[in-house]
Amino acid sequence: MRNLKNKPDPNLTPLDSPPSVPLIPIARRKTRKLWVGRVAIGGDSPISVQSMTKTDTRDADTTLREINALEVAGCEIVRLAVPDHAAALSLKRLRPLTHIPLIADIHFDYRLALAALEAGVEGLRLNPGNIGARWKVEEVVKAAKERKVPIRIGVNAGSLEKDLLARDGHPTAEAMVESAARHISILEGLGFEQIKVSLKAFSIPLTVAACRLFSDRFDYPLHLGITEAGTAFPGSIRSAIGLGILLAEGIGDTLRVSLTCDPIEEVRAGYEILRSLGLRQRGPILTSCPSCGRAEIDLPALACEVERRLGNLHEPLHIAVMGCPVNGPGEARAADLGIAGGRGVGLLFCRGKILRKVPEAELVDALLEEVEKLRKGAEFHALD
Ligand code: SF4
Repeated sequence: MRNLKNKPDPNLTPLDSPPSVPLIPIARRKTRKLWVGRVAIGGDSPISVQSMTKTDTRDADTTLREINALEVAGCEIVRLAVPDHAAALSLKRLRPLTHIPLIADIHFDYRLALAALEAGVEGLRLNPGNIGARWKVEEVVKAAKERKVPIRIGVNAGSLEKDLLARDGHPTAEAMVESAARHISILEGLGFEQIKVSLKAFSIPLTVAACRLFSDRFDYPLHLGITEAGTAFPGSIRSAIGLGILLAEGIGDTLRVSLTCDPIEEVRAGYEILRSLGLRQRGPILTSCPSCGRAEIDLPALACEVERRLGNLHEPLHIAVMGCPVNGPGEARAADLGIAGGRGVGLLFCRGKILRKVPEAELVDALLEEVEKLRKGAEFHALD
């Protein structure tokens, strides 16, 4: 596996792993840094989590509710579809009502891009090769430059240029990167380099190959995603595999998990992927055993209740919920807070020390009390 090293490569940007879950630090590919409003992307910036609204952008009230819910869930950038002029006008209404950076997703019509910029969006997702005459591209680029708004070039295996498809007979990594290179050269030709790129396919091997090839050739920041990944459960697994391979190699600067469900789940999945690799530290990490015939407490119910009640915690606490004395004390000791189950009771641990024995029915409340004490009094490693 490339770039996964114990010793950070001096040419790459190392990140710290979470304090209590030992992981091999991942050295990230060095990319250029740009800003989508207040959110930095690329360089040594944390890998940001994006999502996209699923409401009709023209319905500003409903869309604002979804944007607010996404922000509460930790989403850092929200993209909105702008299919027509009414949607662009809606952006103008929405922009002052939320602080989160907004990206307008535009296809084909340069006037919509200009209207979205006029509305104050912080980013555009637009392929310059798809909006026609050069003067139209020039107008968009000029307006984006004036407002310091970056443009994401989004290459999708399902909508490659006809000549590239005909050349290879089917979507290939080379064709996807070639497509990105064409759009990039249009923007560079106009002196515009505030560029992000995404190369997405439903196929994981194709997405991975395209992103690897791109990051070997370019240092523009990469937006990762597995497109049309499916419904919440299979789509999250599919995305975790695809994005996990790339992120473990240090590739990727921002991501969106595309799921056919409430976009909040996209945000949750995005953070879970990043936290699993030690690339972000937002929220608790829960270690829980699967339970088995040795458990003498209802471990699954206990773990689910702990997960539910810690749902809104932002601090990077490591919590262990374990079923019996076989592996329980070891894992519970290694966590910030842990439960090791016994017969209808549990031992409560805090950072390696036994606090007390607690009856099963009171275990979750007792754990949550200790969480609050740690939150009030303890130092946490810097939240990213
Ligand atoms: Fe079974 Fe105990 Fe292991 Fe949990 S910790 S899976 S209860 S042996």
